Amino acid sequence: MSDENNVGEDNETVTGIEAPIYLKYNFTAGAAASRFLTRIKEGVLTGQRCPRCSQVYIPPRGSCAACGVPTEEEVELADKATVESFTIVSIPIPGNPIEPPFVVANLVPDGANISVIHLLSECDNAEVHIGQRVQAVWKPQEEWGYALDNIRYFKPLDEPDVPVERIGKLPVTGLEG
Ligand SMILES: [Zn+2]
Repeated sequence: MSDENNVGEDNETVTGIEAPIYLKYNFTAGAAASRFLTRIKEGVLTGQRCPRCSQVYIPPRGSCAACGVPTEEEVELADKATVESFTIVSIPIPGNPIEPPFVVANLVPDGANISVIHLLSECDNAEVHIGQRVQAVWKPQEEWGYALDNIRYFKPLDEPDVPVERIGKLPVTGLEG
C-alpha cells in the first residue's frame, strides 16, 4: 500500500464521492416574516416601511438595513411589478414546474423599493427586458399556504416599460399613480 490516505482499490486517487442527504427542518419565521406569510396566505403582498428613510422592504425583516431602525408600519403592495434584472435558466431545477429554458427575475412590486426573486412565464424569453411590467399569476386559492409560491409565476402586462431611473420607485398604484 503506497498511500493509505488517498489511494483506492484500483490505485486511482479518490477525488470525491456522492453522498445524497435529506434535511428536514423547521424554520421559525420571526415576527415580521410571520405577518408577511400570514398575509400572503390571504393573497396579499405586504412590506414594511422604514420610519426614517421611507424605504419599503419585501419580504420585511423587521428592520431597515440602511438605517438600523425597526420597521413596524405594514404596507400593502400591489401584485404588479417591474423587472429589475433577470436571467434565463437553461438547466432543470428539481421541483420547478416550469421546463427550461425559463426566466428568473428580480421583480420590484409596486409600492416597494426592493425586489423579490420569482419566475417569469407566459412570455417569449427573448423579449424579457429590464423595466418590463409584469403581474402575479396566483395558484388556486385552495392551494394557498404560508409561502411566496402562492404566486405560481409572474407574466408580462400590457403596460409601458418603466424607465430605469423609476424602477423601485413606483407607488402602489403603479406607473400612472
Ligand atoms: Zn431606513
